[in-house]
Amino acid sequence: MATIKAYGAQSETADIAPLSIERREPRPDDVAIRIDYCGICHTDIHFARNDWGRTVYPVVPGHEIVGTVTAVGDGVTAFEPGDRVGVGCLVDSCRECSACDEGLEQYCDNGFTATYNGEDRHDGSVTFGGYSEAIVVSERFVLRMPEGLDAAASAPLLCAGITTYSPLVEFGVGSGDRVAVVGMGGLGHMGVKFARALGAEVTLFTRSESKREEALRQGAHKVVISTDDGQMEAVADRFDYILDTVPVQHDLNPYLDALKRDGTLILVGLLEPIEPPLDAGAVVFRRRRVAGSLIGGLPETQEMLDFCARHDILCDIEMLDIRNINEAYERMQRSDVRYRFVIDMNTLRR
Ligand SMILES: [Zn+2]
Ligand SMILES: [Zn+2]
Repeated sequence: MATIKAYGAQSETADIAPLSIERREPRPDDVAIRIDYCGICHTDIHFARNDWGRTVYPVVPGHEIVGTVTAVGDGVTAFEPGDRVGVGCLVDSCRECSACDEGLEQYCDNGFTATYNGEDRHDGSVTFGGYSEAIVVSERFVLRMPEGLDAAASAPLLCAGITTYSPLVEFGVGSGDRVAVVGMGGLGHMGVKFARALGAEVTLFTRSESKREEALRQGAHKVVISTDDGQMEAVADRFDYILDTVPVQHDLNPYLDALKRDGTLILVGLLEPIEPPLDAGAVVFRRRRVAGSLIGGLPETQEMLDFCARHDILCDIEMLDIRNINEAYERMQRSDVRYRFVIDMNTLRR
């Protein structure tokens, strides 16, 4: 065991503060990683504050990890010290079920092991995430960061990136499709970039006129102000796909109406009951679909990273000194970040 420095929360009302944690010695299939950068996801805030009622304290958040391999176990063949690698939202799964067999570890029938606040399958300990100096992960759950991809700006690809890439690819977005993205935060801005790179005609739905210029800069062809009835009527029956990234309850019916016959509304942000209720008639009469998608499995996450390297896609980030993390959380609550904070983990080692 090694004792290392980390940042985490000791209770739901505590600030994120320095603490010490233990990391295991590498098992035969393990990769030991020095963490260089870690993105901050909204999920981190939810766990730190116990918004979902299942946080085990102390919690060390962080699941957008980029680092450098420092050591490997005897059985590791894919990585060696010095390699630049990534770790996303999951660090283990049962490896036996049909989902795991298909490389869809995020849908593991026996539940995947989350990078933090998860239960280690070997020793029952609670996992600690990326707000720390180092992490030890089984090689199956380690990603290779392609050469040429900026290390800091690629960290959020490991959650925000794969969350938007996976459904666009799985549901079949291709050249000429009309795709709309709802919301322009960490997820939304990645959705716009991926849809554009896949050859789609891309529209951003936003409530705020102030996002227009920025959305066009990110690659959107059009911007529709979703609170403007006239603009919404003008896009009725228009889209093949709508990727909804908004994590709080909101009216989905205007977006249903904006789908073509056979169009698909894909939810990646919302985890709560739909409120107000969905108009089933609008689904039935136009054979529309409402779907969901959760992050991505390991093979697809690697595919996404390689796609980003080929298409020069990165997250727009603001670099953060870990000592300012509580201020960063507050700013995220106000949506005051374009579009992801990434912690420079050297500020923890200093
Ligand atoms: Zn996340
Ligand atoms: Zn499984």
